[in-house]
Amino acid sequence: MAEKTPGSVFTETADRLEREGDLSDGELAFLLQCADPGAGEYLAAKARAARERVYGKDVYLRGLIEFTNFCKNDCYYCGIRRSNKKAERYRLGEEEILSCCAMGYGLGFRTFVLQGGDDPYFTDERIVSIVRAIKKQHPGCAVTLSVGEREKESFQRFFDAGADRYLLRHETATESHYRRLHPGEMSFEHRLRCLRDLKEIGFQTGCGMMIGSPGQTPEHLVADLRFIQGFRPEMVGIGPFIPHRDTPFGEEEPGSAETTLRMLSVIRLLLPEVLLPATTALGTLDPRGREKGLEAGANVVMPNLSPADVRGKYLLYDNKLCTGEEAAEGVRRLSLRIERAGYRAAVSRGDHIGFEKAETPAPEKDILKAQP
Ligand code: SAH
Repeated sequence: MAEKTPGSVFTETADRLEREGDLSDGELAFLLQCADPGAGEYLAAKARAARERVYGKDVYLRGLIEFTNFCKNDCYYCGIRRSNKKAERYRLGEEEILSCCAMGYGLGFRTFVLQGGDDPYFTDERIVSIVRAIKKQHPGCAVTLSVGEREKESFQRFFDAGADRYLLRHETATESHYRRLHPGEMSFEHRLRCLRDLKEIGFQTGCGMMIGSPGQTPEHLVADLRFIQGFRPEMVGIGPFIPHRDTPFGEEEPGSAETTLRMLSVIRLLLPEVLLPATTALGTLDPRGREKGLEAGANVVMPNLSPADVRGKYLLYDNKLCTGEEAAEGVRRLSLRIERAGYRAAVSRGDHIGFEKAETPAPEKDILKAQP
């Protein structure tokens, strides 16, 4: 065991982050990069404790519905960018989305996340209609939107229709790096404005970024941490960058699972109340990625509720997981894995602790109770 203990500079720095909730830029970069054996585990233990003080052992499940892979944007990293002529495009209609939700409800999900490309077919009216219909059929459930950038009036309409949360990763907090990842027609400033608008409107708002995207340096990661610290989002979605062969970044190296886990832990210690998913990308890069994410301070997982025939088409990156425990039907096996890791798959909306609305009706039965 002794050889697994990191040096005292690392342990003292991590202890201070836990105690004071902040460090200098240099110290944050050191926590992310230090190669001492056992460093990641040491940090993860601190993050785990912090998350348990706020959310206990609960892991919140979200049913992810990837309802369109049409996209007007051309992000260099993304497999569903408009220039990828090989992507097989699809859209789900309102009825199909509602039947995904109904199936998900039966499986125990109390949050539905609607994610898609920036698809102009889904006008504000269409999104509003979908949100209203879901809220009508499942009044105790939360709806999260992740449909890219819009204007503030549109976000307000979604909120008024009943949407509870909005995920819009900032992708990077450094403008020059943003330009490395996106074509000139996309605006860093607009993306950040969207995030501010969402928060002002009252959404539980999520930002986030990929770890190890091309050109990313430790300084960029520290800038992301500072952005997150200042913005105080309710959720942060982070996962490793994974190349997609039919994009300009097809030959780039993937990000590191280890750095992703360290970032999860540091974010948990900076913002103990944040909702932090162990993402599909982390599970794709490492077969135990989900569990390792939970052990590093994450407390959310988002299995895929999309219909089986389109699941394989929402390909943001190569080899993206979409079967087994990654699929909503695998939820019992997933909860078993969560329980084996020492946690509890919760049947609840899983709101941010500052937003608890006590709207969740008690589950009729313990649907998620893992069956051996
Ligand atoms: N159109 C929506 C949803 C984008 S897809 C929006 O703009 O918010 C959701 C997230 O997947 C992106 O924000 C991005 O961070 C991530 N992603 C895209 N391509 C990826 C890749 N190659 N590897 C890892 N994550 C990727």
